[in-house]
Amino acid sequence: MRVTLDWLGVATFRLTVGERVIFLDAYMDRVPGAPPVGLGAAEVARADYVLVGHSHFDHLWGAERIAARTGATVIGSHETVRLLHDADGIAEEQLVAVAGGEPLDLGGGVRVRVYPSLHSCIWAQMGATADEACLGDLGVAYQERASRVTRSFEMLHGGALGEDVAAHMKASDRHPRSEGGSLAYLIETPAGSILWKDTSGHWTGILRDLRPDVALLAAVGRGNVDGEPVQGTLADFVASEVELLRPRTVVLCHHDDWMPPLTRPTDVAPLRRALADRAPGARLVEMDYLAAYPILG
Ligand SMILES: [Zn+2]
Repeated sequence: MRVTLDWLGVATFRLTVGERVIFLDAYMDRVPGAPPVGLGAAEVARADYVLVGHSHFDHLWGAERIAARTGATVIGSHETVRLLHDADGIAEEQLVAVAGGEPLDLGGGVRVRVYPSLHSCIWAQMGATADEACLGDLGVAYQERASRVTRSFEMLHGGALGEDVAAHMKASDRHPRSEGGSLAYLIETPAGSILWKDTSGHWTGILRDLRPDVALLAAVGRGNVDGEPVQGTLADFVASEVELLRPRTVVLCHHDDWMPPLTRPTDVAPLRRALADRAPGARLVEMDYLAAYPILG
């Protein structure tokens, strides 16, 4: 069976397994200054399922239009489902709320297993490059973390990064409670399995027992290891995830210039080097947008 993958920017992918079309996140419509990904949510004509990793706008926004236009079922956290239902009017019959531990049958030989995961530490200091080490920020109470994140979002909404960003936030941000809980998805197909994680965080005890053929990993910000910020570089964090998972193929995401001037293009070289050093058995696929890459089969 042929399994193809289109990267659509940030952590959004279109996964096509035989006749099944499965979106992983739904964020394609970005600020005018971001490079276009070649497809907008309103142009998606076909989708059977949308899996959502967490409820931040740069993951969730678009799921409501895809669900409304295609009739796709959206699978996500209870917060994602609450927002889609209450803010966007998506019918209960099209929504499946999960928290980790649910095996789901998507038909066509595709099964999905949901695992609890963690969001990157957007409240902590982060490196300007993937090989800049960050230390400290350990033991910061949740209340302090949350107030730092609130200030960052107020800055984005308030126009500190320009009118384009403020207008985009107004349109896209559904004001989730925190990030609504982060989830990892293991997608099992007749041609092999794919683990997808849309933010740089994990529970070590969960990742180390999974053995996907392909790992789609967010490479951005300050990694979160078991609830505390990684002590080191982003490149080391991503390499540690690949060491835990031992996939044959790795695809990075969320490292593109998705919301300038908040973001810049990432130099992938340090990530490439860290993976070659620490996980030489894993092949790194560097994907362009809308490449219809044959990832399995
Ligand atoms: Zn997020």
